[in-house]
Amino acid sequence: MSQRIVINSLAFSRDAGSLHGELPIASLTRVLDMLVDSTGNLSYRVEGRLGSRNRRQLVLQLDGVLSVCCQRCLEGVDYPLDVRRVLEFVADEEELTQEEIEDDSKDFLPVQEEFDVAALIEDEVILELPSAPRHESCALPNTGQETGKISPFSVLKGLTGKA
Ligand SMILES: [Zn+2]
Repeated sequence: MSQRIVINSLAFSRDAGSLHGELPIASLTRVLDMLVDSTGNLSYRVEGRLGSRNRRQLVLQLDGVLSVCCQRCLEGVDYPLDVRRVLEFVADEEELTQEEIEDDSKDFLPVQEEFDVAALIEDEVILELPSAPRHESCALPNTGQETGKISPFSVLKGLTGKA
């Protein structure tokens, strides 16, 4: 069940719009594969403003806790989300300077009148989640001592040779 939260990004930024609410984690369909538990909500806040060169910006904030899958024991690991992103809309004909491209403090998006905030939230969650989450300390299921074992990776290296 995907949920759409659509704003007119141009008017929203110009008028310093503000939007906040709760988004069910279960509605983040592209994220669900990475989660152990999909109950609960993320809270979001979106604010519009004008940035430098009068460009329209959105500031997105996300809060919540996601239960991601530990790559070692396959149990859930609580991952607190704390996202604050600045997105700037750029018209097609505008050129980004090298400085802007290298600026990690914000992302650039093509100007869109109809902008799906729920899809943006989903994208940002996917970017934010760790690719191989683990508990700080947990045991592998069904294995004893690891000492003295040959690492499977060193065996693989020997088999594959040159990549
Ligand atoms: Zn674990």
